[in-house]
Amino acid sequence: MTEIPKSHPRYESLLARECISKGVKEGLTSLQGLIAQGRGEAFDYLIGERTTPSANAATMVAAAMLLLARQPAISVNGNVAALVPAGMVELAKAIDAPLEVNLFHRTEERASKIAVLLRSLGALLVLGEQPDQRIPGLEHSRAAATSGGIFDADVVLIPLEDGDRCEALVRMGKKVIAIDLNPLSRTSRMATVTIVDNILRAVPNLVFSAVELSKSSPENWKSLIKEYDNNSTLRQAVNEILNHLNCQFS
Ligand code: ATP
Ligand code: MG
Repeated sequence: MTEIPKSHPRYESLLARECISKGVKEGLTSLQGLIAQGRGEAFDYLIGERTTPSANAATMVAAAMLLLARQPAISVNGNVAALVPAGMVELAKAIDAPLEVNLFHRTEERASKIAVLLRSLGALLVLGEQPDQRIPGLEHSRAAATSGGIFDADVVLIPLEDGDRCEALVRMGKKVIAIDLNPLSRTSRMATVTIVDNILRAVPNLVFSAVELSKSSPENWKSLIKEYDNNSTLRQAVNEILNHLNCQFS
């Protein structure tokens, strides 16, 4: 990895780039993952590289939904594995959920490398190496899912997911929580709860929220969910972008 001086004004963003390119070199991340990161970075610039109030509110609701889930599951792809592998393990422990490797451009080698990495960081249950189910409405290996994991879950967390797969999971009747910097993506629009934030900020925030919320009652979690409307969160995210842009040259 290229050494990035901490004093660099774009330190965090450059470090994320280094993590993704290291992920590609190590065979965790696909080449296409580099492009997905670039699209994410562009939106992060637009939202001001900060966790916005709407993202914070969505994160609380996501934490409540994960705590209330009968059987939650967390999807991990090549970009997620390169950027926040330890954070995903921590989150899985905080909400007692399995991690499932779920790749858009699936190869068995990449699935196995990601599972090995997650286990080396202390993950208790990692699925996805031997999928035994298919998500209806998707073609080829993109449909792969595992019993006891994403296939049976009532609540699924899908960071950096493709819109098509998000839609197919919603069609199965699942509650889907997305982490996606683009409030306009199909994933963001289809999901039950969308956290419009960089995964680097969203995952620690989600772990913190889950730990804090777990100290309160399930009644409190339910009322957070009941009051939530994803469309208005996305509208708020777009307004936060507009306000940020308007402040730039005034
Ligand atoms: P969709 O299929 O939902 O319309 P898309 O085709 O534009 O989205 P994909 O490549 O399918 O995008 O999925 C990647 C998504 O992940 C993009 O919306 C991108 O903004 C987002 N993304 C990339 N990097 C990050 C990151 N570090 N944190 C959060 N979101 C990210
Ligand atoms: Mg897509």
